Amino acid sequence: MELPFAEPYKIKMVESIRQSTRDEREGWIKNAGYNVFNLSSDHVYVDLLTDSGTGAMSDRQWSAMMVGDESYAGASSYYKLQEAVSGITGFPLFLPTHQGRAAENVLFSTLVKDGDIVPGNSHFDTTKGHIEFRRAKAVDCTIDEAFDPDVIHPFKGNIDLSKLEDVLKGHPTEKIPFIIVTLTCNSTGGQPVSMENLRQVRNLADRYGIPVVFDAARFAENSYFIKQREEGYAEKSIREIVLEMFSLADAMTMSCKKDGIVNMGGLIGFRDRDLFNRASAYNILFEGYITYGGMSGRDMNALARGLEEGTEFSYLQCRIGQVAYLGNKLKEFGVPLIEPFGGHAIFIDAKSFLPWIPKEEFIAQTLVVELYREAGVRSTEIGTLLADRDPVSRGNRYPELELLRLAIPRRVYTNNHMDVVAVAFKNILDRRKGIKKGYRIVKEAPIMRHFTVELERIP
Ligand SMILES: *Cc1c(COP(=O)(O)O)cnc(C)c1O
Repeated sequence: MELPFAEPYKIKMVESIRQSTRDEREGWIKNAGYNVFNLSSDHVYVDLLTDSGTGAMSDRQWSAMMVGDESYAGASSYYKLQEAVSGITGFPLFLPTHQGRAAENVLFSTLVKDGDIVPGNSHFDTTKGHIEFRRAKAVDCTIDEAFDPDVIHPFKGNIDLSKLEDVLKGHPTEKIPFIIVTLTCNSTGGQPVSMENLRQVRNLADRYGIPVVFDAARFAENSYFIKQREEGYAEKSIREIVLEMFSLADAMTMSCKKDGIVNMGGLIGFRDRDLFNRASAYNILFEGYITYGGMSGRDMNALARGLEEGTEFSYLQCRIGQVAYLGNKLKEFGVPLIEPFGGHAIFIDAKSFLPWIPKEEFIAQTLVVELYREAGVRSTEIGTLLADRDPVSRGNRYPELELLRLAIPRRVYTNNHMDVVAVAFKNILDRRKGIKKGYRIVKEAPIMRHFTVELERIP
């Protein structure tokens, strides 16, 4: 019999988490205005709010932190990180930043101007924010299959080349500072982009003389999917695939809180010395000197090690395998979800789960609250609350899909925890006829309301 696959690590340190009673949770979530962002983490049993900055560092990472060099300029920790970044990504030049959006702030300050157009595949919200903040426009060129939950496609993060070419044809070159490709595509559910698509985007960009930038937060997970799903890559190592992917970009921003497996950190990769020099001025202004830019020496040490561990095949097999384990359990119980499963998260189709709740009553949020009530599991709404109001009409924007996201932190929970989540959904499924009403807003902020909104139950 073939031996089953298990984690390529064992556990050396543990953190207690506590199961609560349904009555306790009922009180806590009411006090939180039925918004899980307002909950204290002590009141959460399994926290699947996000996979960002929530990973568990290894003993090697912790020990690297103890020997961080905190010199202001030219610290050995900076050179250690430089070696990891150039060795793994192939970018000869880089700037450290405190997190991903800071990398966007620095790079976009250098490149994006009022009236510009930035095409890409479903830009991440902070990326879009940094484009729109500069009065430029983000144009989504993702393939149509990405938006149809019933379509199975191995690379739902791909860019539609004819949509992209229409944008490139329709605007003068100087209005398009770059094309941005998000790997994996977070906004469409952690879906990967194929190497072939990256190559085609590169070729098209070259024909129009436009640079290509990667938003590379989940670059390692993207490489794993290429190895698993794309012809010609099964025999290649993750590191070879990572290098080949990045060779197709002129620059990249990375939130290292994802595949870098650190709690804080970001970076920008460059090939062009002139661009690096121009961006360095903004890095010094916003982040810190170019050899630490928002990170302490110990953080750079931990990240250098994290980039290596995050690109090991056995780690990725275990990480993405755990996400699929949860997805398959939920599927067995008949929970409606989006397929193929993402690299970092499972998305539940709340509209199919609670078809009688009207969209005005926040369908996905109703399910988020129900999951917390059932088992103390924290998830997030990707629905009407997140979609926010139309800036002009101030009416609610109702997205096509109402999703509940279960984002899995890296190396943190066991499959037993995944079983708890799956059974919680099974129980809700069994009693869902009793969930007759949703919620209404009591208080909300003018923008980004989902973080602080307060709700009440509709009686
Ligand atoms: C998380 C993320 C960002 C922003 O990074 P932060 O570290 O949260 O600032 C940008 N793009 C993508 C694709 C991300 O997942």
